[in-house]
Amino acid sequence: MDAVSDHHIDGKQIAAQLRANIASEVSELKDVTGEVPGLAIILVGDDPASRVYVANKHRQTVETGMKSLEFRLSEQTTQAELVALIERLNEDHSVHGILVQLPLPAQTEAEAVINAIAVEKDVDGFHVLNAGRLATGLASLVPCTPLGTVMLLKDRLGDLSGLHAVVVGRSNIVGKPLSQLLLAENCTVTVAHSHSRNLPDICRSADILVAAVGRPELIRGDWIKPGAVVIDVGINRLSDRDGVRLVGDVATSEAGHAAAITPVPGGVGPMTIACLLSNTLQAFRRSLAPAAS
Ligand code: NDP
Repeated sequence: MDAVSDHHIDGKQIAAQLRANIASEVSELKDVTGEVPGLAIILVGDDPASRVYVANKHRQTVETGMKSLEFRLSEQTTQAELVALIERLNEDHSVHGILVQLPLPAQTEAEAVINAIAVEKDVDGFHVLNAGRLATGLASLVPCTPLGTVMLLKDRLGDLSGLHAVVVGRSNIVGKPLSQLLLAENCTVTVAHSHSRNLPDICRSADILVAAVGRPELIRGDWIKPGAVVIDVGINRLSDRDGVRLVGDVATSEAGHAAAITPVPGGVGPMTIACLLSNTLQAFRRSLAPAAS
């Protein structure tokens, strides 16, 4: 491997390998059970970024041999209509995973909608019971981006035990569940956020630095300890005269002294979808009779 590719953590390649493993397991389970995992994806409204994410999720679900059901609902859909659809899918035995693409329009309360999903079909891992199970160290469906982040770190570093991980961002979908996963890997974890003082110093103390903020290139090169491994979760869309480009939360061009860093795009993003497929397969396996799962 050359110096440049070794410095960049290739999320695309690692995600492709994970998807290939999932596809072969789906095929084996189909031979045994005659069934395949089914993922229902619900999109409300037509936010352009959400449409792209949903299209990618649908395509990759089908490519791994699973069944994908797509529900595109109008921007005006009420919370009651959305919950009624989820309740129908909860009862549908051919559906093993249900995903509601966020953000939702203002008239719907995301928390109530997510918590209407049957906990065993909550493949995004956002249901309050899955969040509680993760926080207390019980087996659960784990949010996909944090799961993919930890996979990338273990692929690069092996054992994470004893390392100081700084997670910048404390959202329920990335920062908080990621900090729980890193604690479970025996890291010493610091979670920083918009009220943290001396953020550059906190970042400089990290062996593992994860940026999940949503501020383009907030993390500067001199905030990164030489030899640290940096995971840039941020996806920021910047428009300039050449069109829209994606930029992470880390000033990557200043991060040559990091041991390794994920690119944006092509780092965490592909892992997120691969982990969604992995969670769907896991939900399917759990739905089977104990002898087959
Ligand atoms: P949220 O907006 O929910 O959370 C952002 C977090 O960053 C908050 O905890 C906030 O602090 C903190 N923050 C904001 N400004 C600063 C600052 N100046 N200094 C320190 N902390 C700050 O975002 P998400 O967690 O949903 O997403 C974060 C980023 O990750 C986004 O760019 C998003 O697009 C991307 N993302 C990428 C995914 C992927 O697949 N690659 C998947 C999901 C998200 P506070 O809590 O105090 O407000």
